Amino acid sequence: MSRKLIIAANWKMNKGPAEVAAFLETFLGAAGELAEQADLVIAPNSLSIPTASALINDINPAIGLAAQTVSENENGAFTGETSTDMLKELFVNYVILGHSERRSIYGETNAQINAKIKKTLAADMTPIFCIGETLAEREGGQLEAVLSSQIKEGLEGVSDISNLVMAYEPVWAIGTGVTASAQQAQDTQKFCRSVVEELYGAEAAAAVRIQYGGSVKGANSAELLGQPDIDGALVGGAALEADSFLELIRNAVA
Ligand code: PEP
Repeated sequence: MSRKLIIAANWKMNKGPAEVAAFLETFLGAAGELAEQADLVIAPNSLSIPTASALINDINPAIGLAAQTVSENENGAFTGETSTDMLKELFVNYVILGHSERRSIYGETNAQINAKIKKTLAADMTPIFCIGETLAEREGGQLEAVLSSQIKEGLEGVSDISNLVMAYEPVWAIGTGVTASAQQAQDTQKFCRSVVEELYGAEAAAAVRIQYGGSVKGANSAELLGQPDIDGALVGGAALEADSFLELIRNAVA
């Protein structure tokens, strides 16, 4: 089965509205044809989402807009949180969930990520569901057990994954400049797909898109995204500048 690549920029806590506007003024025009070859998504911080939303709608509505997290609750007394309703009002169509920084710094558990995935799907937005092991877990022989429980607990009670994207991000490769080798990433993503098959059957497993994330850049995007079980990238550092993000995308789709 051929799966369309999906390449997403996770800007984390970088770029306020002015910087987002400057990036998009370069990126949106240049991304025109590339957006036909791959689904392209940007994930600004929540304060910059209105700026990004307006520019995407004006210049290139084919570009996807993601939030970096969302509340699992309905609007109400949850200080500091953002709801799916608010994101939808701004035409946000993806939500990154389970990123390792949310897990390790903010203590998000598999159960909480599961609730957020359900809330996002119920709001007709696409979760980008991140999973990944630490170096100690990989070296301690726990790679498969960790990924398997992240996937199973994260998707507990989710009956349909046709509107869900996964992202395998080895924690040791995020923001470190160390990339998993293409073979390591391929082998691990094949394993993740086998867990999806166990849960949802062969057809759903063949259809689900699994991104790789961890120090992807222009120099390695073609090799990584050329692997049979790697269907795109979730990109931090190399997506902060429009030129380097465009180079990464061009090399991947070439
Ligand atoms: C990320 O934050 O999801 C990520 C993969 O970052 P980087 O590309 O900088 O490693």
